[in-house]
Amino acid sequence: MVCMECGAIVKNGYTTSVTDLGNCLLIVRNVPCHKCTECNEIIYTGDVIKRLEQIAEQAEQFTQEISIVDYSSAA
Ligand SMILES: [Zn+2]
Repeated sequence: MVCMECGAIVKNGYTTSVTDLGNCLLIVRNVPCHKCTECNEIIYTGDVIKRLEQIAEQAEQFTQEISIVDYSSAA
């Protein structure tokens, strides 16, 4: 697999996803991703993107300004 930005090789890894939902800042830790070895572009697989969307939907119901969720333990 290669980076869509620069064409360099991407490696499997983990990252922290930060999403501003408007009423709440959602931080998801330990998100599996592919990370470019050259430009640090982060690429998520389709499954991970769906899962992040589900977590975001749940987080919108929270009243905290900042929600920190671990990807592997999110329902
Ligand atoms: Zn790159």
